[in-house]
Amino acid sequence: MRWNPYIDLRVEVSNAVRCKCKACDIEISRGELRVCAIPVVGKQELYHVDCGIKRAYDHAARKLKDKESDWPEAALKIAKRLVPEGTIPVRRSYQRTPLLNLSYPQTPPRTQTCPLCGEDCPGEEGALTGHAIRAFSLDGERRFHPACIRKLAPGLCRRIVLEDSERWPREVLDFWTQTIPDTIKPTRRSPWQDTGGLPTLERAPSARAACRYCSEKITKGELRLARQKVFGTRRSPVYFHVGCFARSDDYHPKILELVVLRIDPEIQREEIEAWSEVLPATPEIDDDVPPLLDCLLDLFDRVPREAETEAVPSNLTENLVEFPRGFFSSE
Ligand SMILES: [Zn+2]
Ligand SMILES: [Zn+2]
Ligand SMILES: [Zn+2]
Repeated sequence: MRWNPYIDLRVEVSNAVRCKCKACDIEISRGELRVCAIPVVGKQELYHVDCGIKRAYDHAARKLKDKESDWPEAALKIAKRLVPEGTIPVRRSYQRTPLLNLSYPQTPPRTQTCPLCGEDCPGEEGALTGHAIRAFSLDGERRFHPACIRKLAPGLCRRIVLEDSERWPREVLDFWTQTIPDTIKPTRRSPWQDTGGLPTLERAPSARAACRYCSEKITKGELRLARQKVFGTRRSPVYFHVGCFARSDDYHPKILELVVLRIDPEIQREEIEAWSEVLPATPEIDDDVPPLLDCLLDLFDRVPREAETEAVPSNLTENLVEFPRGFFSSE
């Protein structure tokens, strides 16, 4: 099975007048089912259902296997026909899209549906009428009622309350202050905040740089994750311990897969094996797939060691990235 960068494939009815499939470049008709593929870095991609399935058999296999699949019957039928026998389904935890940050829209937002309660947002909520909270995740932005987002991400709400910024309306801050229990700790700021492009794995050339998450210095010779800052005039990178990334809210194992795929040939297998000390335990829901470390080592073994060292372009301002060639399923 070829590697794919997606954390989930969603099937939805196409509502766009003009929209082309990223794989075959042929139009997807309005009203037709389409696949919206969500990569771990970068923008969502649209495909015909069969084209999308061919890009990521493991995701389609998961939808087929799980009874509570969020795919319509028609898409499952296509998957049944296309997914090769013996395909290992994607880890269920990969479909998790943690909320990374909240913000308050500075212009009145147009009405959307709150993903938690299904009601109009902004909507009627007594003193909180008319408020919509923007929540950012790996797969984009959603709008929630103040009461709904408090249930979903109380730690983030707590952080907003403590920051006490003027960008937030007083009644929303007061509501959270009154209703979030003191036992809820503020969620730490995401280490990847304001960074863009492909993260890389590299060996620290000195002990001068500090980890952006724990603020401790990264030991000389230790493997660290690096990514470019996107704001400001200087393109200075930020660094993290691998373990700190794994503990952060931005953690998604696909990022580790990605850095292993693009690994410097000088980095040894034993150094990846040592991640057993810092990776979180396999989540209980991943009861039917091999442990993450096994998958990372398998990827490591499959990376051509004599790879032609072609620079991978990345457009930082638009957060566009090119994934390594040769790891996608071929048509
Ligand atoms: Zn297509
Ligand atoms: Zn709601
Ligand atoms: Zn750290």
